[in-house]
Amino acid sequence: MGKAIYWFRNDLRLADNSAWKLAIESGSQVYPVYIHSPDDDGEWAVGGASRWWLHHALQDLEDQLSRKGLRLIIRVGDPERVLQALINELGITEAFWNKRYIPAQFEADDRLHTDLVKQGIDVTVCNSSLLLEPWDICSGSGQPYRVYTPFLRAFRSNEVQDPVNSDGDPVVPCSWPGSLEVSGLGLLPEIDWAKGLRSFWKPTRAGGLERLRDFARRELDAYDRMRDIPSEDGTSRLSPYLHWGQLGPREVVAALSPMPDSNGKETYYREIVWREFAYHILFNNPDTDMKPLQPSFNQFTWREDAGDLEAWQKGLTGYPIVDAGMRQLWETGWMHNRVRMIVASFLVKHLLLPWQEGARWFWDTLVDADLASNSLGWQWAGGCGADAAPYFRVFNPILQGKKFDPDGEYVRKYVPELKDLPNRYIHTPWEMPASMQESLQVAIGDQYPAPVIEHKQGRDRALEAFQQMRERTKQ
Ligand code: FAD
Repeated sequence: MGKAIYWFRNDLRLADNSAWKLAIESGSQVYPVYIHSPDDDGEWAVGGASRWWLHHALQDLEDQLSRKGLRLIIRVGDPERVLQALINELGITEAFWNKRYIPAQFEADDRLHTDLVKQGIDVTVCNSSLLLEPWDICSGSGQPYRVYTPFLRAFRSNEVQDPVNSDGDPVVPCSWPGSLEVSGLGLLPEIDWAKGLRSFWKPTRAGGLERLRDFARRELDAYDRMRDIPSEDGTSRLSPYLHWGQLGPREVVAALSPMPDSNGKETYYREIVWREFAYHILFNNPDTDMKPLQPSFNQFTWREDAGDLEAWQKGLTGYPIVDAGMRQLWETGWMHNRVRMIVASFLVKHLLLPWQEGARWFWDTLVDADLASNSLGWQWAGGCGADAAPYFRVFNPILQGKKFDPDGEYVRKYVPELKDLPNRYIHTPWEMPASMQESLQVAIGDQYPAPVIEHKQGRDRALEAFQQMRERTKQ
C-alpha cells in the first residue's frame, strides 16, 4: 500500500477540497502535514492578528482530522526540507496539495513539484481556493485584464465548478511520526491583546458555515443597500474564512445560488469576483505587492512622518470616521470595506504617506490579511493600481462620515469618548462650541485630538504632489 502526504496550506478544511478528495481516493495511507515557515515568507510572514486566527484554524483542523482517525503532523522550517525529511522518514510515494497563487509561493511550489517528480514521487496539485485559475481569463488579444468590468464579463463566460464531495474516509496510517502541538508554534500573542478578536469571531469551519447560513438567510437580499453602512451587519464577514480556506469560494457561491434572485445576490457575486480579480492582478503582475502597477507612480514623492503614521495607526487623527475604522481594526482584526477605503484614502492623500505603509499595518492587524486583496485595495486607494480611483479624487472624511454613518452609530461604538456628541458634531467635533466641549467633557486637543491636518489643506497638498508627479513623468 502507498503512503501519501497531504500538505495543508491556505486550505484548512476537508470539505470541498479537490486535492484532499484525490488523496483519500488514492487508497494510500494519508499523512496530513502542516509546515510553519515564517522565515520563508519574508516581509509577508503571517501578521499578528492572522497568527491568532491560524492558531485556532489549525486546532479546528486537528479536530476535523481526528474525527476521521487522523492526526495533523506539524513541523517548522523550510517547507522543501521538511517535506523531504518526512518523505524519507515515512517512505512516501505520493504527495497532494492545492495550489497557492501568490507568485513567490506559486514558483516555489512549482520547483518542489518538479523535484519530487524527479525522485519518482507522484504529485497531484489542484485548485480549491479560487473559482477560476488566474490564467483562465484573458482578453481577446491574450493579455490579462487590468480593469474589473471587462474581467467580470469574461469571468461570467466561464463555467464555475460545483463544490467537490471530499467527505470520504481516508486510509489511516498504522503509525505516526512525531509532531509539534499547535500551541508549540507560538502563534498566540504573549501579552493577551486578543480579547476583542475572541468576542467578535468564531475562527472555525463551523463558525464560517454558520455565518454563511445566517448571511444567506438574513442579509443577502439587502446586501446592495446595506453593504456601505458600517454600523450595520450588512456584509458577510466571510473574508478570513475564505483567506484561510476554512470555506471555499465554490461552497459560498453554491450556498447562495438557490436563494431568490435579487440585486443583493448579484452585487454579492460581483464582490466574490473582485477577490478573483485581485488574484488575477497579482498573479500577472508579481511585484505589485510593493510596486505600483502604474509605473508613473514610481515618481511620486511621499512624505515620511512617523508621528502622523502613528496617529493613523492608533485612530487618533481627529477625524471620527477614520479613527473609528482604525480602532475597529485594532479591536476586532477586521474593518468594514467602506471604512477601509476611507482610512486608506486618508493615509495616502491627506497624510501623503506611502500606501505600502498602510498595507503593512493592515497586514499585521487584519485577520483576513490577504496579499492579493490587500495589494489591490491599497493600490486602488493610492490611485496607482488596477481600476483605481483617479488620484485627484480625494475622499472627504467628513462627508463620507455624514453619508455612511449619518447618526454616528459606528463612530460612537468605536470612539466612545465621542458617544454623547449631538449628531450635528459627530463628524466635526472640533466645531463644537467651547461650552459644549466643557459640559460633555470632550475638550478637543485633550480628550479627543484636533484634526491632524485640515481637510482642504490635505486635499490641496495631495493634488499638488500629484501634479508634480505628472510634470516629472512628462519630462
Ligand atoms: P463582503 O462585502 O461580504 O464580500 C464578500 C467577499 O468578497 C469578501 O469576503 C471578500 O472575499 C470578497 N471581496 C469583497 N470586496 C473585495 C475587494 N474589494 N477586493 C477583494 N475581495 C473582495 N480583503 C481581504 O480579504 N483581505 C485583505 O487584506 C484586504 N485588504 C483591503 C485593503 C484595502 C485598503 C481595501 C480598500 C480593501 C481590502 N480588502 C481586503 C477588500 C474588502 O475590504 C474585504 O474583502 C471585505 O471588507 C471583507 O469583508 P466581508 O467578508 O464582510 O465582505
